[in-house]
Amino acid sequence: MNLPRIAALVFGFGAAVLAVVLMAARYAAGGEPTADPVLVGALAAAAVGALLATIFDARQRGRLLDEQNAGLKRVAEVQKRTVDRLQIINAELKENEQRYKGLVDAQGDAILRKWPDGRLTFVNDAFCTVFGVAREDVLGRVFRPAFHPDDPPPLLHDYADGGDRPRARYDQRVRTASGWRWFAWEDYPIRGEAGQLTEIQSVGRDITERKEVERTVRAALDRAEQMSKAKSLFLATMSHEIRTPMNGVIGMAGLLLETALTPDQRAYALAVKQSGEALVELINDILDFSKIEAGGLELAREPFGIRAVVDQVTELLATRAHQKGIEIAACVDGDVPENMLGDEQRLRQILLNLAGNAIKFTETGGVTLRVSRGSPGQDPAAKGRLKLRFEIEDTGIGIPDEARQRIFGHFEQADSTHSRKFGGTGLGLAISKKIVETMGGQIGVSSAFGGGSVFWFTVALVPNRLVDAAPPPDLSGRRIAVVSASPILREPLVARLRQSGAQAQGFASAAEAAVSLVAARTDIVLTDIALPEGDAEACLPSLRNWLPPDAAVIALLPPAQRGRIPALKAAGATGYHVTPVRHFGLERRLAASLAGIDLDEGKPRADAQRITPQPAAGGREESRAGVQILVAEDNEINTLLTVSLIKRMGHAVDSVRDGAEALGALESRPDYDLILMDVHMPGVDGIEATRRIREGEAKRGPGGRGRVPIIALTASVMDEDRQKCLSAGMDDFLTKPLDPNALTAAIARWTKTRARAA
Ligand code: ADP
Repeated sequence: MNLPRIAALVFGFGAAVLAVVLMAARYAAGGEPTADPVLVGALAAAAVGALLATIFDARQRGRLLDEQNAGLKRVAEVQKRTVDRLQIINAELKENEQRYKGLVDAQGDAILRKWPDGRLTFVNDAFCTVFGVAREDVLGRVFRPAFHPDDPPPLLHDYADGGDRPRARYDQRVRTASGWRWFAWEDYPIRGEAGQLTEIQSVGRDITERKEVERTVRAALDRAEQMSKAKSLFLATMSHEIRTPMNGVIGMAGLLLETALTPDQRAYALAVKQSGEALVELINDILDFSKIEAGGLELAREPFGIRAVVDQVTELLATRAHQKGIEIAACVDGDVPENMLGDEQRLRQILLNLAGNAIKFTETGGVTLRVSRGSPGQDPAAKGRLKLRFEIEDTGIGIPDEARQRIFGHFEQADSTHSRKFGGTGLGLAISKKIVETMGGQIGVSSAFGGGSVFWFTVALVPNRLVDAAPPPDLSGRRIAVVSASPILREPLVARLRQSGAQAQGFASAAEAAVSLVAARTDIVLTDIALPEGDAEACLPSLRNWLPPDAAVIALLPPAQRGRIPALKAAGATGYHVTPVRHFGLERRLAASLAGIDLDEGKPRADAQRITPQPAAGGREESRAGVQILVAEDNEINTLLTVSLIKRMGHAVDSVRDGAEALGALESRPDYDLILMDVHMPGVDGIEATRRIREGEAKRGPGGRGRVPIIALTASVMDEDRQKCLSAGMDDFLTKPLDPNALTAAIARWTKTRARAA
């Protein structure tokens, strides 16, 4: 509010009113409007008031204008700053655009954008260079490169269906300015705000070099495979060629050893035989290794029992261990299921190799095999499988630090003196490693040099749920004492008896056991036959004194010590059990006898006979006496060996030198009970001769002389060769070098069958 202006207006207006009033009074008085000083004063005052009001008004407006001016100035400043910033942003945008354009153009990758109908909206410099086109010529047109005629027709990856695939990746060989090139394309859709497909961006990377490398690698792999096949064939042939004369060497040395010889001659003949056997073992190892190396290891998936395999291995090696005066025992944890699906043979091969080594390198103490459940691990491929951990612990010479990794390589031994001192080829662990890895596991060793070793491996197997697991033997609450100075014998047994529920305790001597026997009633004592106090025969009578009369005392003895059974019984043993103790065998017997079922203790291994398949070789089978055998073999030494072996068995034998002669012999004497047929012979070979014999038999029909069994004599251990023999009509095969036991068993098997059929 402008107070001075209002005051001036009021003052001027008042003075004007006063002048008007004075003039009106003068007119009313009839006077003349003369210069009345009061009137003049009023008029002057009114004029001054008006003037002042105008001045104040002008000043007020001037101030307002100043203020507006200042406001405008501020706005102008803000605008200037905004413009400056916009200019900066514009410059930055330009810079960024340049940068991105530079990036897109500098890319080696060809980049393009197109509308869904295929017309190009953008291409980068690389695209133009690669396809040799000018940008302005291709924009707005559909891009259709030429595809290589050798390749399958290209797939459509244009998102024309508006499909919601986030990305499409594919390789194409297209014609470029520099010829045919491979491109790895990656397409992805550009979508509008409403999600509709607006454009497709494609980035193509030239992968010609990579494809070329892949092609070269594939070609190299094919070549390597061919070479590996050629190598395997070479090895198979070599092995065959070496085995054939080795048959003569080993067999003849064997025959020689059965004649009357001086001690020196015997030693020499034995050396010849052992060297021959070592050589055959080496050939077997090399063949097996090269087969596995060539990727020829196919794992079987068959039902088998874990404890059965472990028991077989300990049993097989027990003789060797006992001969060295060391123990071998096994313990499979109670939570490991018995029935599995997998390759039993290969698993047995690993166990035999590791446990065989353990025995070889151990002089005192012994070897323990343990099986437990391994930690499951994260491997998704292992789904439905159970990881098992096998440990083979020995108390032998141990392995120095530096050799621990090395020994898993081929032809590697911890010490260069080992092959001389202990024999071996250095291939066993390499083979085991390959098998374990193929089975999806790992292998390793922990060892203290001089303090024994623990070789371990893991494998993933499938539990066989189709077979009902027999309930484990129940020994709940029974007190059992295991007395043995050997922790190898004692500890696994105690662990296993505890798994069956028994209160089992181990004692290192009879004296130690006696203290406990006095303290509490004991149901069963299992005792080693050699105790620190002396032989069990001597210790048992006093031990019996501490036991209740109905307690059982079972002597644990290796098979070779069976002769001591009467003396042990006389000393107070109520039974015996043969070591190594089979899984469940002892526990089942104990559970049965505690339940009042008396098992014949004279047959402690009744279960063993049930579980263990009878080995093919063995010579236990009796063949029909007076069997007539024909041997077809071209190698003179091998013929001499086979004929000698057969004669020694008491059979009649004729020999011929090839397949044609065999056919002739069979024509003139059709009553042969068995033919042993070498596979490789000059002229008509074993396969061809067999085929012709079978054809003849088929023609003659039921009225003929019947089907004569034919056993192949082959130096090959390859499955394919065996298959060939069977397909030709052979019934069985014997591998060279000929094992006399295997020959006896085979003759018995085939002549008995024929005798029964006849
Ligand atoms: P081989 O026993 O035929 O020589 P392997 O591959 O089975 O071949 O073993 C390689 C080497 O590893 C052996 O020669 C030996 O030096 C060492 N070795 C293997 N097992 C044991 C063991 N249990 N104790 C000590 N050394 C061992």
